[in-house]
Amino acid sequence: MKANHEVKALPYAYDSLKGISKQVNEWHHDKHYAGYVAKRNEIEKKIAELKEKAGNANYSEFGEMKRRESFNASGQILHEIYYDIMGGDGNIDESLDVVKKIVADFGSVDAWKEDFKLTAMSALGWAILCYDPTDGSLHNFLVDLHNNGAVWGSSPLVPVDVFEHAYYYDYGPDRGKYVDAFLGNLNWAKINELYKHATR
Ligand code: FE
Repeated sequence: MKANHEVKALPYAYDSLKGISKQVNEWHHDKHYAGYVAKRNEIEKKIAELKEKAGNANYSEFGEMKRRESFNASGQILHEIYYDIMGGDGNIDESLDVVKKIVADFGSVDAWKEDFKLTAMSALGWAILCYDPTDGSLHNFLVDLHNNGAVWGSSPLVPVDVFEHAYYYDYGPDRGKYVDAFLGNLNWAKINELYKHATR
């Protein structure tokens, strides 16, 4: 049993992002993200303590907890990266390795952005720029639920949360404006670190 995952503090002030309000950051980080961490811990503890363990694909207590375990674990991981890579000025430094790779794989930064935004507009949950080691390329993957749409072995570099809780309070149904605000807050030096780690 692990059950000791900890909520990571927001790495910057709640009111410091441009176009993503303090109120949304408080709700999103302190309630939604922290909720995934709490439920992941609760599930891990309950699985360890479960007296009668039965596996059944239609229904079993054990099976349902395993089903929700991957949802909450993936929710925790994606939100931590989402917050980690913001707090910057959004400026794209063409000399960074990850930016060179974006240009090599997508043709240009603008072409990547267009595909990323289309993916974000098409998803229920997330659009994620990932590095896939199996083909050595970057991809924008679409994820509907935290644990549904992941491509095994690929490393998430730029995940944008497009669940309504991430933007409705600030933008109503105008998701595109929120995605633009997200891009304007990116810290590309951080993203480059994630890329270097993924390709090491
Ligand atoms: Fe979220």
